[in-house]
Amino acid sequence: MNGIIIKALSGFYYVAAEDRVIACRARGKFRLSGDSPLVGDRVTVSESEGQGVVEQILPRKNAFVRPAVANLDAIVLVASAAIPVTDPFLVDRMTVLACRRGIECIICINKTDLDPAEELRRIYTNTGFPLAVVSAETGEGMEELRALIRGKTVALTGNSGVGKSALLRRLCPELELATGEVSQKLGRGRHTTRHIELFALGDRTYAADTPGFSSFDTDQTEHIPKQDLEQLFPDFSPYLGHCRFPDCAHRNEPDCGVLEAVRAGKIEASRHRSYVRLYAQAEQIKAWELKKE
Ligand code: GDP
Ligand code: ZN
Repeated sequence: MNGIIIKALSGFYYVAAEDRVIACRARGKFRLSGDSPLVGDRVTVSESEGQGVVEQILPRKNAFVRPAVANLDAIVLVASAAIPVTDPFLVDRMTVLACRRGIECIICINKTDLDPAEELRRIYTNTGFPLAVVSAETGEGMEELRALIRGKTVALTGNSGVGKSALLRRLCPELELATGEVSQKLGRGRHTTRHIELFALGDRTYAADTPGFSSFDTDQTEHIPKQDLEQLFPDFSPYLGHCRFPDCAHRNEPDCGVLEAVRAGKIEASRHRSYVRLYAQAEQIKAWELKKE
């Protein structure tokens, strides 16, 4: 039988297969090879006397360490202009990480009942990422979000308090009904170990709530070589290759195609600021690493 691991807890893997969830142990070979199953893994399972066993992990599309999840199709970056206000830099940093992994970025602006978030809306409309503008409180825009994630396995991320749990409740009717359970599942005493769990939203759509931006695979971004960064801003791509210097860093060089596009309003200034900040960080890492040697 084929299925998808939706939860891993205390040595059990919960596999959604056909129309039920099977609690499984993993074959010892996984432990021995150091290649343990992850939430999100597509697996084959066998069952005997009510005990499920994960037999095989199907090839992974991708895998994250923090949170421990495999096969993400998209990351939903939740942002808000209401308190807590989202710093676009954190969104941009996540888009770089996701682009590097070849994972789609969906921007979701939440809490529009409190603040219309015109600036965030302008920035990300012009940047070209799929965008949903929603209110988890009123339900406005939820159909657009649902359409953007349909059939995909996605992780919601965003600064704490931005409304990830509230959105998940809206998306998952089962969660919305079982309110007590929700607070257990999503209230998740922030001091205990966090378990990642995929919630089935129907139509082969799965969504995971994840910790904030800061803890989402942070190590990965910091080691991006500075010269790779320009490729990780898809909104820059039409303007690359038009600079006077072939090794232009697009920061303050003369006759820079990227800077010209920023000046002309074709690239959002805040996106370019994020690029410059990430570039500076990449340079620092380099200097620090050199010092170490
Ligand atoms: P998380 O930390 O990202 O999971 O954020 P929560 O889902 O726990 O939301 C934090 C707070 O914001 C809660 O009190 C929610 O009820 C509230 N909230 C979430 N989304 C909205 C929204 O769209 N509008 C309003 N007014 N409040 C919201
Ligand atoms: Zn340039």
